[in-house]
Amino acid sequence: MHAMDIHLIPAFSDNYIYLLRDPASGAVGVVDPGDPEPVIAELDRRGWRLTTILNTHHHNDHIGGNAALKERYGATVIGARADAHRIADLDTALDEGDRVSFGGDAGTVIAVPGHTSGHIAFHFPGQQALFCGDTLFSLGCGRLFEGTAEQMWDSLSKLRALPGDTRVYCGHEYTQSNARFALTIEPDNADLRARADEIGRLRAAGRPTIPTTLDLERRTNPFLRADEPSVQRTLGMEGAAPAAAFAEIRKRKDTF
Ligand code: ZN
Ligand code: FE
Repeated sequence: MHAMDIHLIPAFSDNYIYLLRDPASGAVGVVDPGDPEPVIAELDRRGWRLTTILNTHHHNDHIGGNAALKERYGATVIGARADAHRIADLDTALDEGDRVSFGGDAGTVIAVPGHTSGHIAFHFPGQQALFCGDTLFSLGCGRLFEGTAEQMWDSLSKLRALPGDTRVYCGHEYTQSNARFALTIEPDNADLRARADEIGRLRAAGRPTIPTTLDLERRTNPFLRADEPSVQRTLGMEGAAPAAAFAEIRKRKDTF
């Protein structure tokens, strides 16, 4: 299968918007355009015409550019049916398991409630690419604004089960501060320490830490490791239900 082009567009202080292009069909998508301006600039620069807007959830830093981009390009907005009442420009409402065809590629919708109740992720298995908004971050996860720890743990468990070589494209560049927190949970995790060093080098050079991979996150992200005996021991929660240990890690991060 041919590769889809994926470009990062930094927005606001720490958001990432993703521009996708299927070279065979010329289809162009954008994931979570919170701000239309940098997206328009990038499309103009490349001479591309936007066809599809993909939304992971209803927060304004992810959908704020929908209206302007839809008007300018006539693009179709796709997002969660559960958010139909609060994504004003939604054209196609999606449920768990729905297929998203994008040029020659097919993605799958994964329901990942927790950060918001209607949050979804887009998985393109043929591209080994996952767009997960504010559910899974590199070394972190989204805050629980509209869901329970139990729900978020279930959502992260679904993402964790995807193939290890899946590239993870998340909604924010929070990796460096996430690394500082992760090291308080697993100071002796060699993979995490190596990743923290790499993150320091990347950020010092002004480069993104995204995409990460699921394999790396499974080895280093404390929120995906709430069922690891060594993590539970650090928490003083040996033998706890994974969701309970996850809740404790999330609580600590909220006040970190
Ligand atoms: Zn959000
Ligand atoms: Fe966000």
